[in-house]
Amino acid sequence: MEDKYGILKSTEELRRTFKSGVTRTVEWRKTQLRGILKLIKENEQTLFDLLQSELGKHPIESYRDEIGVVKKSADNALRCIDQWMSPKKGWLPLLFFPASKKVVPEPLGLVLIIGSWNFPFTLILDPLIGAISAGNTVLLKPSELAPNCASFLANKLPLYLDPKAIKVIEGGSGVSSQLLEYKWDKIFFTGSTKVGKIVMAAAAKHLTPVTLELGGKCPVIFDSLPNSDMKVAIKRIVSGKWGPCAGQACIGIDYMLVEQKRASTLIEELKKIIKRFYGDDVKNLKNIARIVNKVHFDRLRNLLEDPAVANCIVYGGSFDETNLTIEPTILLDPPLDAEIMNEEIFGPLLPIITLDNIEESIDFINSKPKPLALYAFTKSDDFKKRILAETSSGSVTFNDTMIQFVCDGLPFGGVGESGFGRYHGKYSFDTFSHEKAVFDRSFYLELEPRHPPWSKFKLEF
Ligand code: NAD
Repeated sequence: MEDKYGILKSTEELRRTFKSGVTRTVEWRKTQLRGILKLIKENEQTLFDLLQSELGKHPIESYRDEIGVVKKSADNALRCIDQWMSPKKGWLPLLFFPASKKVVPEPLGLVLIIGSWNFPFTLILDPLIGAISAGNTVLLKPSELAPNCASFLANKLPLYLDPKAIKVIEGGSGVSSQLLEYKWDKIFFTGSTKVGKIVMAAAAKHLTPVTLELGGKCPVIFDSLPNSDMKVAIKRIVSGKWGPCAGQACIGIDYMLVEQKRASTLIEELKKIIKRFYGDDVKNLKNIARIVNKVHFDRLRNLLEDPAVANCIVYGGSFDETNLTIEPTILLDPPLDAEIMNEEIFGPLLPIITLDNIEESIDFINSKPKPLALYAFTKSDDFKKRILAETSSGSVTFNDTMIQFVCDGLPFGGVGESGFGRYHGKYSFDTFSHEKAVFDRSFYLELEPRHPPWSKFKLEF
């Protein structure tokens, strides 16, 4: 195979480094984690500038969704790594006496991490924190759709982290396809379901384990709420839908389900808060990111161009091609067979689907592929129980949106078409480790009946 992108050379060096054993030491792992913290501290303004210029993110949004998230993860890993690395001992049944057992986490080896563009630092650095905490060498492939963020990582990471153990390769699907030809000990992929299938097929050739962090259509169930709770809920929904990267988020709200009789109040309240948070002039929107590029801008515009869908716009619907911004847009009851109700929207358009009874939302959600996140605003414990028992999704969040992403104590990952595997906090460490079972037996107390020759007496014993 032609080594067009220098992949072979890089992987050979990464393999040599892993073999040397350096990455297995706790000192090396802690030095790398501190390196990530130093990188962020010394380049914070550059990171803000890059995210602003490349995706139009406000620095507060960038801190909340990227810089702060990575800092928190690295701090948490530094605090917990000794405990994570320690073998887990336990009791054995008397039958095995005298013996001991333990489970020892060991690094997998050489890991490939492929990232998406919508959180170009978080989606590369957060899995990296897990991979180095677990003692692996790593090759990172950020998304080509945020090229300046990718170049920043390629240029800066070698200055802060061990360049013989952690490398970055820039490029798009061509580079990715080449990378997937090689044998890895683990592939961690964040991106679309379509490319996830390509990654998994390539990994299968080498029996490489994969974690697939994919997307899908994340619903919100909106039950009846007392007025004061409803006002809080609306703010959380508006922030969750349009806040992180203008709806270009894997766990962003895709559509809402509400009882018909509550739809008009819901829409009026959403409009008020949207205007307050983002303004209503598409040429001068505040606090909202832009669409990543013209291709995605046109994809979103096409979703609304279907006349049957355009008729359903009850708020927004304006586009500014010069700035690649789209006004927060609400649609009421678009046809269920329209593309907008069958493709992941990944943008600032919000369809609201009305139902006669909110309990029908369970069947509605079950008629679609399993989502990465499910949100439900309800005060009914019985309804919460039904949602948990009768639907399947990567996560369920009651009465808030997006917040589950920053909770290190919860696993983050999908199920079904939204992916599989999980990370964050200790789950990241586990994702990049093999749990080796160790059984240590003494030479005393040999039970002869366990050995041949077999006899009737031994059978009865
Ligand atoms: P994508 O699948 O197009 O690209 C993701 C990565 O795969 C990029 O690095 C890209 O270069 C690479 N790639 C593209 N085509 C490839 C190919 N043919 N072979 C190998 N690699 C290829 O996805 P995207 O546009 O970056 O992101 C949008 C999707 O990602 C959405 O579906 C979204 O829901 C999902 N996503 C999921 C998460 C999560 O944590 N679960 C986070 C962000 C985005």
